[in-house]
Amino acid sequence: VGRSFDSLSRKLEGSVITEPRALELAARDRSHVAGRCDAVVVPRNADDIATLAVWARQHRMPLVARGAGTSLDGESVPVRGGIVVDLSRWTRVIEVDPEEGWARVEPGVVNLELQEALARRGVFFPPNPGSWTSCTIGGNVGTNASGPRSFRYGPTRAWVRGVELVLGTGERARWGSRAHKRSVGPDLVSMFVGSEGTLGIATEIMVRTAPMPAVRCGLSVALPDRIALGPVAVALAGAPSTGLSAIEHLDRRCAAELRGPDALGLDGERELLLLEVEADSERESASRIRRVGEILRAAGVDAAPVRFEDADALWSVRGQASVVLDRRFGERIREDVAVPLGEVDRMRRAIERIATAAGVPVYLFGHLGEGTLHPNFVVPPASPAADRIRERLFDAALRLGGTISSEHGIGAVKARYLERELGRPGIDVLEALKRACDPSGILNPGKLYPSTVGPRSSPSPSGGEARAAARGSPSDGRGRRARGRSARSSPRRRAVRP
Ligand SMILES: Cc1cc2nc3c(=O)[nH]c(=O)nc-3n(C[C@H](O)[C@H](O)[C@H](O)COP(=O)(O)OP(=O)(O)OC[C@H]3O[C@@H](n4cnc5c(N)ncnc54)[C@H](O)[C@@H]3O)c2cc1C
Repeated sequence: VGRSFDSLSRKLEGSVITEPRALELAARDRSHVAGRCDAVVVPRNADDIATLAVWARQHRMPLVARGAGTSLDGESVPVRGGIVVDLSRWTRVIEVDPEEGWARVEPGVVNLELQEALARRGVFFPPNPGSWTSCTIGGNVGTNASGPRSFRYGPTRAWVRGVELVLGTGERARWGSRAHKRSVGPDLVSMFVGSEGTLGIATEIMVRTAPMPAVRCGLSVALPDRIALGPVAVALAGAPSTGLSAIEHLDRRCAAELRGPDALGLDGERELLLLEVEADSERESASRIRRVGEILRAAGVDAAPVRFEDADALWSVRGQASVVLDRRFGERIREDVAVPLGEVDRMRRAIERIATAAGVPVYLFGHLGEGTLHPNFVVPPASPAADRIRERLFDAALRLGGTISSEHGIGAVKARYLERELGRPGIDVLEALKRACDPSGILNPGKLYPSTVGPRSSPSPSGGEARAAARGSPSDGRGRRARGRSARSSPRRRAVRP
């Protein structure tokens, strides 16, 4: 330990930052997980990243790619110390081809900024996570993020056509192509999506784009007390001719928390469905909304849908669900299990039982149309009680044919539960892929792969990983970025296991 970054600074000419405030910001994301950042590197180009990877490999120094740092399970936290590779200034939309349906972008472009650039060309990038005003496309790819419109369009994985990247060896690679479809063995692009910066660092991403619908209409619908959600979801999801692109749910407690001047007048007294209908014309939109009303009535929902002309404004309010709970409760368990639609109510009851057994309040919202539930248990997320809640929650989701993560990813928090979902052979395949891409295990160690997660040989100065700490995040979705230029450094070296 006590190693200097001088040799790296010479190679990367002023891109290495060791100013304490920048290191502090880069050591956190939006989870409770705490890490230790020894240096931030702001690479100027892909060659810099390749040079950095070779240097890091020689020095066994972890490299953690970072977009906006809004991840929720420690995905962008340097839990083994090392260098945070800050891509938040890589914000160029390089080329858009609306006819062929793709755009080449740098990984640090913010989701909303990409949407704005694409809208000028009549197309859009469908994944719109709640954090879309701040999260980056690189981060969306890293976590295979989803948003309300993923009900119709699918997650980020469905919207990436190619990626240019630097592997953990320092080699540069280009996976995917501009062709509309490919059948070239198991798909490397798909494997890269959701790999949480553990296989390579994306330097350019080719996203697919979709034609912008002529009319997009947001709807909110108040639900009767204790209605079974599964049948409503099944009825809406299976009905033709509704043009539904989003089916979201907020329980009564979340709706009440969202109430306020910025909530577009959402009903804060009732459990809510939030929907989006797409159409080619106002006339078609009106007829589709009528159809949605009929389906809802047949499913036992009598309240008429309330219309919001600006669907994106509705999704921005919905995206605040997590933020208002942050303000009210601070750190807590924020999970993202998913189950088949027919099991949603069983899962919901399991969540309520788990909360009751633990004696903690639970707030629930989610992407109902695809069976994703976001239970927010108000409990310190690094406590033994939290561990017991997660155990029971994941077991219930898997028992019901679901998954432990629908969209947030695995990160540092859920790696120990991964084998329950993938089984040992699945883990072996993942770890073999990891070794092939990153033989020295320098890329984002301590995430995703169970064998790299666990107690460390020595504690970090900040008190160890996955430590609860009631602080704000470094780049917290409000546009704050790690910056600084000090030449002073006191980096630490840590051996990493592949
Ligand atoms: C209020 C709020 C609402 C949210 N809502 C949603 C939601 O609706 N749906 C959802 O899916 N998530 C949601 N999230 C979680 C989070 O915003 C997403 O996971 C998002 O994709 C992270 O993007 P980011 O730019 O912040 O990535 P970061 O946190 O910086 O990084 C995420 C992961 O991607 C890796 N990575 C980043 N850039 C690269 C790169 N260039 N190459 C390789 N790997 C890279 C990182 O190493 C890390 O493992 C929400 C978070 C918050 C705080």
